[in-house]
Formats: sequence, structure tokens, C-alpha cells
Amino acid sequence: MQGLVIKSTGSWYLIRTPDGQDYDCRIKGKFRIKGIQTTNPIAVGDQVEFELEPNASTGVIFKLLDRKNYIIRKSINLSKQAQIIAANLDQAFLIVTLASPRTSLGFIDRFLATAEAYSIPAILIFNKLDLFSEEGLEILAEYKSIYEHIDYPCYEVSALEGTNIEQVQMLLKDKTTLFSGHSGVGKSSLINALLPGRDIKTGEVSQWSDKGQHTTTFAEMHTLPFGGYLIDTPGIRELGIFDIRPEELGHYFREMRDLMHECKFNNCRHINEPGCAVIRAVQEGEIEISRYESYLSIYHGNETRA
Ligand code: GDP
Ligand code: ZN
Repeated sequence: MQGLVIKSTGSWYLIRTPDGQDYDCRIKGKFRIKGIQTTNPIAVGDQVEFELEPNASTGVIFKLLDRKNYIIRKSINLSKQAQIIAANLDQAFLIVTLASPRTSLGFIDRFLATAEAYSIPAILIFNKLDLFSEEGLEILAEYKSIYEHIDYPCYEVSALEGTNIEQVQMLLKDKTTLFSGHSGVGKSSLINALLPGRDIKTGEVSQWSDKGQHTTTFAEMHTLPFGGYLIDTPGIRELGIFDIRPEELGHYFREMRDLMHECKFNNCRHINEPGCAVIRAVQEGEIEISRYESYLSIYHGNETRA
């Protein structure tokens, strides 16, 4: 039988078949990604093949189907290993806000570069619209102009007041969407607003907690009543840029990627090289200075705190 992994504790996997049946499954055999050691072989969003055990209520996964993409992060305990967070994503939403606490441009840019590295379309959702003062609305316009200029869609919502929630539901329909955002931006409130009748804090996790210890460190997949899946990443503060070499980084800033073939040197780092098309574009205002600063900051491995 084939099914979709909708929950994982690291040792147990909840698999949903196309006809909507759920099965608790374990893994038999080894599943590996070339070149990377992972602490978990399979994650939510994966499509697997499994067979039922003689008791007919639990199953054994014996095959992982090809992934169209996946996101990973460094394992907290074992720095050389990675954890697969989720697979087969259609898009990734970053929930941000300009009010208590304001999301920094550097944080947004790191997320966008990560999404580019995984080839996952990214969308910015500005939450807490109801709190924005006149000044807040000006900053919102500024942020939006930076990102819409480079073709990242931006949406404004209020999870509290329900503003533009239907717009976001339309974006989610029939897709698999990752939700990310630093704590306090209202990600849980927004998910609750998008999934009426469900309280994700007290939701179905409890029923499963006897099967695994640290459920919260794993991504959780919610089935959307109007079609599609929403993947929440509780406890994951930020998607890390895991294995990007500095010389590749320019490819993940799309406005730089479009220009770098014009640099004089084809191994240009866009830092201080003569004839650099990126630096020229920054000076001429074509590339936003904040974007370029984020590039430099990631390049130098700095931690820009949100
Ligand atoms: P999370 O940490 O991102 O999951 O954030 P929560 O959903 O727990 O929300 C953090 C705080 O922001 C809570 O006090 C929420 O009530 C508040 N909050 C969330 N969304 C909104 C919103 O749209 N407007 C306002 N005014 N407050 C919000
Ligand atoms: Zn250059």
C-alpha cells in the first residue's frame, strides 16, 4: 500500500492512504540520502510504501518514494547530522510581523535564501495588521516594496480579527505548505484562524505522545478541510541554511543571481571585486541595500538576531 506520512515521532509514523485511512507504521531497512547523514530517515510529506503486519492495525514501511524536495536542519545534538523536517513542499510561508516583536529584514532574507536553496516558492505573510499604527503601516509599505520588487508575494492579515484569512486559505488550497516564523509572530493564532474548530495547542498531539518523546521537535502536518496540507514546525525557530557554500550564496539572492553573469570575474564573491555587477547595482539603488547587507552577513557567517 502507498501512503503519505502525516506525523512522525522518529520511531512511529502515521501514514494516510489515498482513501483516507490512517495507519501507525514503523520502518524496516535503511533509507538514506546520498551524502548526508540524517537522524530521521523519513519525514512528514514523504510518500512511502508499506505493508500491514499480521495484526492488521500497524504497518511496516519498506520503501520511500522519490522526493521532489525536502528541508533539513542541523541536528541539535549531533552537529554532523541533519534532521529532515519535511518533504514534498509546494510552498513555504514565513509569518512575520512589524509589531511586538518586529521581524528583522535579516531574518526574512535568511529564510528567503533558504527557500531558494531548496527551490521552494516563498511567500511572506504580515500578521497583526490590527496593531499597526500609522508609522507601522509606513514600515509595512517599505518592507512590501522591497520584497514585491523581487517578486516575493506579500499578504497582510490579522489572525486576531480574521482580516484577509480567506485570501490565505485560497493560497493554501490543494497545496502542501510549510509555515515558519519566529516565536510570537502569531503563527499558532494564524493556523487556528485558518483551521476553524481546531486548537493546535491542545490538538491531536496528546493522543500520540505515548508513542514518542519529543513530538514537538517534529513538524506536524494538518489536513486542510478545503484541500491541501499545512505543515507547522513547532519549536523550530528558523530553517537553517544547512550546506550552502559561501560561493554559492549569491545564487540564492534572486536579484543577484540575475546579474552576476555580468561580473568581471566569474568567481566574483560580490564583496570588493572590481567590475562587480552586484556592487554596481547596489550603488545605483537597483539592489536594496538591506538585501545586500543580509548577503554579506550570511556570507561572513554572522548571526543577525531577529
Ligand atoms: P506564535 O508564537 O507565533 O505561535 O504566536 P501566538 O499565536 O502564540 O501569538 C503570540 C501573541 O500574539 C499572542 O498574544 C496572540 O494573541 C498575539 N497575536 C497573534 N495574532 C495576532 C493578531 O493578528 N493581532 C494581534 N493584535 N495580536 C495577535
Ligand atoms: Zn560580483
